[in-house]
Amino acid sequence: MADTKPAESALPRSEGQQSSSQQGAAATAPEQSLVIRSQNQNSGFLFKFRYHLFAAGFAFLLGPFAFLWPGQTPVDPTNYAERTRRVLKTTPLIDGHNDLPWQLRIELHNRIYDGRVDLTKRLLGHTDIQRMRTGMVGGQFWSVYVDCDTNQQHFEDPSWIVRDTLEQIDVTRRFIDEHPQHLQYCDTAACARKAFQSGRISSMIGIEGGHQVGGSIASIRQMFNLGARYITLTHNCDNSFGTSASTVAAGGPDGGLFKLGYEAIKEMNRLGMIVDLSHVSHQTMRDVLSVARAPVVYSHSGAYGVTPHLRNVPDDVLRTVKRSGGIVMAIFVNRFLRMKDPDQATIHDVVDHILHIAEVCGWECVGIGSDFSGTPYVPIGLEDVSKFPDLIQVLMERGVTDEQVRLLAGDNILRVWSEIEQRAREIQATGEKPVEEEYEGRQWHKGLKDSPWMLRGSREKAIEAGAADKPYMFNVDGSGKHNPAVENV
Ligand SMILES: [Zn+2]
Repeated sequence: MADTKPAESALPRSEGQQSSSQQGAAATAPEQSLVIRSQNQNSGFLFKFRYHLFAAGFAFLLGPFAFLWPGQTPVDPTNYAERTRRVLKTTPLIDGHNDLPWQLRIELHNRIYDGRVDLTKRLLGHTDIQRMRTGMVGGQFWSVYVDCDTNQQHFEDPSWIVRDTLEQIDVTRRFIDEHPQHLQYCDTAACARKAFQSGRISSMIGIEGGHQVGGSIASIRQMFNLGARYITLTHNCDNSFGTSASTVAAGGPDGGLFKLGYEAIKEMNRLGMIVDLSHVSHQTMRDVLSVARAPVVYSHSGAYGVTPHLRNVPDDVLRTVKRSGGIVMAIFVNRFLRMKDPDQATIHDVVDHILHIAEVCGWECVGIGSDFSGTPYVPIGLEDVSKFPDLIQVLMERGVTDEQVRLLAGDNILRVWSEIEQRAREIQATGEKPVEEEYEGRQWHKGLKDSPWMLRGSREKAIEAGAADKPYMFNVDGSGKHNPAVENV
């Protein structure tokens, strides 16, 4: 439902104005203290508000010169283009999901230095830096994505998947570094704010699928160390953490979050790795929300209440996300916007989803997560990254205020991310240890035979497994005798 509030004046409350009035008050304070006045004088209206009147008169005199202070002049509330421009100049528009790194992989095999691509020039597809600038993009979570291996019975076997994920992180870091005048790699919300202030597009990394860490909590930690800041718990396949929406859509059972998934959430919260619930099944969403110790993020999802696709977020979950302080970043993919006639999807469908999320979850809960370069099927009117301002304008046409747009564009995701970082600091301050759990049936392949054992039990197991009982397999002291200190280990 459209927000029925009238469009707020486009004139934002200026921090500059606020501080100058505070300075004014401070400057007059000593002067006031020198004035000896009677109570009668003190209570007079003109006297009491003399400074306000003075300021008002001053402002009136300066009125005709207001054009000298661009951004401070009032704007016609129906001038949506100007309102959009002003809002996005002062608030970063941060998109939750863009798959450009996937294009670099499949089209260039991650070779970005041989002159075949210049991201600052107009390319085909949805994304290049030139059009990001036109689209006033202030920050971008770049998706590092690798396919599910559907030939494997157990998706936990990392094989090439973890390697390829490392390569995607690598190429993302490299193309960001290649454009320092436009892009700024960021792994904190504070960095994203600073990058915007310096005129660069903050560039963050998100991993689009729990299968990409090979079912290993240790890998989650290392992906964090490499700079990834969200993990989408599943992609279109179940993994050792939980059930994906695609499984349920294909008629499979919704097993929700699995045992190791609970451990993964625990560790991600401890690390400050954002838990992304796009792509997971509805039960997985509910299970995660029941245990998460920090807000969750949907990097690219729609509203199930508008389009009942299992990829979208149902209303009961939206209400829980609201309670937990999370965010749903609205997706632009046609089939999630309109199931029956996806080819007819337009920019207005995205607005419908945004307004529904805002209605159920609140304006503090909504963001933008396009999935540009990750799908060929995007709505009419939102053909590429240059079109974000058009989306903002249509929202304004439908009654959304400047302040609501600021929340949607970037304030929400930065606030939620900061809260996740803060929770991680609090959890770490308790001394909570990193999680060491593994998935059931995990095979530890090597090293059972013939090793300088630390533990007596290991030696015995090795002999049982057929290892020769050699002297170095004993726990011995310096003279070659059994060390009683380790007898009982
Ligand atoms: Zn996706």
